[in-house]
Amino acid sequence: MSQSINITDASKCVRCGICKTLCPTYLTTLNETMGARGRVAMLGELDMKRLAPSRALADMIYSCMLCGACKNLCPAGINIPEVIYNGRAALKKSFDRGRLLRGALKLSTSGLDNIFAVLSVCQKLFYGHLYRAGLIGYVPEIASTPFKKSHQVYKTINKTGRMAIFAGCSVNYFYPNIGESLSNILLSKGYEVVVFKGEVCCGAPFRSSGLEEEALKLAEKNIEHFNKVRAEAIISMCPTCTMVIRDQYPRLTGGTINNIMDINEFLIRYDITANLEVDPTLVTYHDPCHLSYGLGIRDKPRDILKRIKGLEFVEMRHADECCGFGGLFSMHFKDVSKSIGRKKIENILHSEADTVITSCPGCITQLEALKRETGSEFEIRHIVEVIDEAMHG
Ligand code: SF4
Ligand code: SF4
Repeated sequence: MSQSINITDASKCVRCGICKTLCPTYLTTLNETMGARGRVAMLGELDMKRLAPSRALADMIYSCMLCGACKNLCPAGINIPEVIYNGRAALKKSFDRGRLLRGALKLSTSGLDNIFAVLSVCQKLFYGHLYRAGLIGYVPEIASTPFKKSHQVYKTINKTGRMAIFAGCSVNYFYPNIGESLSNILLSKGYEVVVFKGEVCCGAPFRSSGLEEEALKLAEKNIEHFNKVRAEAIISMCPTCTMVIRDQYPRLTGGTINNIMDINEFLIRYDITANLEVDPTLVTYHDPCHLSYGLGIRDKPRDILKRIKGLEFVEMRHADECCGFGGLFSMHFKDVSKSIGRKKIENILHSEADTVITSCPGCITQLEALKRETGSEFEIRHIVEVIDEAMHG
C-alpha cells in the first residue's frame, strides 16, 4: 500500500526554524515566505482553511527548489518536501506562471521523442540568435538522436553479467554522451547492456508541477517495465531519477524498481575504478542535492576520484550547497536560481581546480549556464565521463 503524506502534516510544525538553516531559497532571499518554515506554516494555514488559495501563496510554495536540504532536519518528523509536493498539487491552478509548462508536460506523456524532435529543429533555427541577443538563457543542445534510440541489448564477448541503464530524460535528450560513457564502461567490463525503450520520465517534473496523477502513472509504467528486465542492476546517472524511484515510488505506488542503483554506488560496488590513470589535473567535486540530501551519497564520488592516478582532488568550500538549478525552479525563479548559482561558481573558482566533477546532468546544465554568464574558465564533467576517459583515453 502506498503511504500518502498530506498537507495536514504541516500542522505538526512547532515553528522552531531548524529547517530554514539549510534552505537555499531562504538563505539567499532572507524572506521567511521563501523558506522552509514559512512554507510549512502557510500550508498549515491553507489546510485549516485560514488561508485561501491565491496566486501569491502558490508562488511561495512553488519557489521551493525541492532540494531536500530540509528533509531530515525537522524534530517534529515532518517530511517537508513531501508536504510541499502535496501543497503544489492543491495550488497548481493558482500558479499562473506554471500554466504553459503544465500543459506541455501533460502533452508530453503521449510521446516525448516527437516533442524533442520538433524542439531540436526550433533550437537549430532560432536559439543561437536569441541567445546571442540575450533574449533567452543557456539551454544545452538537444541531441539530434536521443540516447535511447530503440530497445537495444549491446552484446559483448566473454560476458560477465547483464546491466540495464535508466537513462532519464536529461541524458536521453541533452547528454547522450554521458549515457555512451556508461555503455563504454559496462561493455569494457564484459557486461551486456540493456537500453530500454519502454522507459518513461521518472515523474519528477510532473510532481514538481503538482501533477501527482500523471507522476503516479509514469511511476507505474517504469516499475512494470523495469522489473521485467533481467539485469543485475538498473544504473542511473541522474540522482533525481534515482531518488524519485527509490524514495518516492514506494510512497506513490507501494512498489519500486527493485535494483535501481546510482552510478557512484555501482562504480564502488563493482570495483570499476581500480588501476585507472589520467593526465595530471586538479579537480573538485560538487554534490548534487538529490544525491547528498536525497540519497545520502557523499563519500563515494570522492573515494572514486581519489583512486584515479593523476587526479589531484581539492575540496571546494561549501561543496554540498545547491547550485541553484532545481529543474523547473530555474525557469520560474530565474533571479534566485542565478544568485544561488553564482555563489557556487565563486566557490569553484576559489578552489582553483581545472575541472569540477559532479554526478548530475541538471547540475551540469546550471554550472555551464553560470560559467558562461560569468566568463569563468573551468571544465565541467560528469563522473561517468571521467571514468570512461580514464579507461579508454
Ligand atoms: S526543499 Fe530545499 S528549497 Fe525547499 S524548503 Fe526544503 S531546503 Fe528550502
Ligand atoms: S523544522 Fe519542522 S517544526 Fe521546525 S519550523 Fe521547520 S517544519 Fe516546523
